Amino acid sequence: MEERVAHTPFNASPFRISLRDIVRRPGTHREYDHDFAIPERLGTELIGVPQGSNASLHVQCEVVTDGIWVNGTFTAVAEGECGRCLEDISLDVEVPLQGLFLYPDAGYSAGDVQEDVYDFDGDSLDLEGVVTDAVVTTLPFTPLCDPDCPGLCDQCGVRLADNAGHAHEILDPRWSLLASVKDDLVPSDKEES
Ligand SMILES: [Zn+2]
Ligand SMILES: [Zn+2]
Repeated sequence: MEERVAHTPFNASPFRISLRDIVRRPGTHREYDHDFAIPERLGTELIGVPQGSNASLHVQCEVVTDGIWVNGTFTAVAEGECGRCLEDISLDVEVPLQGLFLYPDAGYSAGDVQEDVYDFDGDSLDLEGVVTDAVVTTLPFTPLCDPDCPGLCDQCGVRLADNAGHAHEILDPRWSLLASVKDDLVPSDKEES
């Protein structure tokens, strides 16, 4: 048996899915498809899905013996800036979601097992934590405008990707002296004993 809902009525959080009418009926399903505006920014300091931006949640909830098995996808667009050149970037986010939400009387709890197991009050699923974890894990630790972004010139700060061949003439003679000293310091082949 399958039921479809566009959204749950009188429900403040778009991440919360009411399952009151299907809990404890193993074999029943509910499909939840919901497009909404992000209530609160999701992500890290450098990159995240901004508050108010469009997102969509598509999940399949299946009633199993111990609770609800959830499987689906969260889609949104993250915004941030390049960690090397500070250019604004946006990144499509499409993260898989899955987990088992346990009934309060399942006999074990989320703390007893390892991953992808969450507690469930037996009434409505709150996917906010699952989505937040999945998004934060998926976003790059150092977002880049391009994997080969050359960054900023360390002398004048221009964005090197916009200024091909950008260079400064080195006028200070100490730099060339330093370069020749460095050559002398390169170790010769090691002798093995
Ligand atoms: Zn960059
Ligand atoms: Zn420069």
